[in-house]
Amino acid sequence: MADKLKFAFYWNASCGGCEIAVLDIHEKILDVAALADILLWPVAVDFKKHHIRDLPDKHIDVSFINGGTRTSEQREMAELLRRKSKVVVAFGACASLGGIPSLANFHNREEIFQRAYIETPSTDNPKGIFPQVKTALPEGDLELPLFFNHVYRLDQVIAVDYYLPGCPPTPDMIAAAVTAIAGNSLPPAGAVFGGPSTVCDSCKRVKQEKKVKGFHRIHEIIPDPERCLLEQGIICAGSATRDGCGTLCLNANMPCRGCFGPPDGVADQGAKLLSVLSTVVDSNDFGEIEKLIDQIADPAGYLYRFAAASSLLKHKLTGDGKSTVQAAERSQLEVAK
Ligand code: SF4
Ligand code: SF4
Ligand code: SF4
Repeated sequence: MADKLKFAFYWNASCGGCEIAVLDIHEKILDVAALADILLWPVAVDFKKHHIRDLPDKHIDVSFINGGTRTSEQREMAELLRRKSKVVVAFGACASLGGIPSLANFHNREEIFQRAYIETPSTDNPKGIFPQVKTALPEGDLELPLFFNHVYRLDQVIAVDYYLPGCPPTPDMIAAAVTAIAGNSLPPAGAVFGGPSTVCDSCKRVKQEKKVKGFHRIHEIIPDPERCLLEQGIICAGSATRDGCGTLCLNANMPCRGCFGPPDGVADQGAKLLSVLSTVVDSNDFGEIEKLIDQIADPAGYLYRFAAASSLLKHKLTGDGKSTVQAAERSQLEVAK
């Protein structure tokens, strides 16, 4: 056999689910082990940063990086892996789109710290101490990574070659990506592994173009498993979401939450979903529509569950951009905003 490929797996602001998804390919993991040596995989093997730092540049064939980028340490690891890798894959919704962690972009760092370190009922912090990047102690300086003002998707931090969406990516998609890499049959750079169309296009449920007089959360009704969920008043993101998952959630009588991100040609997944919702509302009366919209708990969370960092606004806009926090972050992170 020719030389084995060299893979790295890394996690940034991540729940760990994407790491488990790699294990979920079950016996196919043996195929991966047969074709590639794994040089970094913190969830499973105790590699250190210097093991990667000491490698020649471009030594790793493919780095799979999951998670959003929230801290200077995560950015540093992403940059290191970019330098050491021929190909970088944004693995999962958080790396591809910002994911669930980027819902925090509706708040800035001050608000998050205020909540986490002052207001939470279990916090006892009478002196109002917040984490500091550097704290001088008699034993020496104690350093923490900088907590950025916002969460970034991976390609806002480093150049990314391919995207594997999903929360997490499905085992079939992971296997397909690894097979394409092994067979040297990768799609053009910048491609997203997944379908070109929408989850709605793959969904077999009956669509009758029915309008609704109200929205329900999924636990409030037992939906008809044959009919379109949106037409039953359950917010389903299928029309604003790339297909390729095999309609996994719909098969379980659950609505699509949008984890594959927007399909080709859609710049803002939340705006697209909002526009779809407006087409199913059965009213032209402003007051009635307002009441109906008020039934949606956490509309921003529904619309941008996985893609807040990829929305046109990207994050909450704060002040004039001249605050100390923003200036510090800009000097630490030269990224597209
Ligand atoms: S994409 Fe989903 S499974 Fe993967 S790290 Fe993000 S939240 Fe976890
Ligand atoms: S909105 Fe949801 S339930 Fe309706 S067709 Fe699309 S994916 Fe299926
Ligand atoms: S149905 Fe939607 S939320 Fe569920 S796995 Fe597919 S893309 Fe993700």
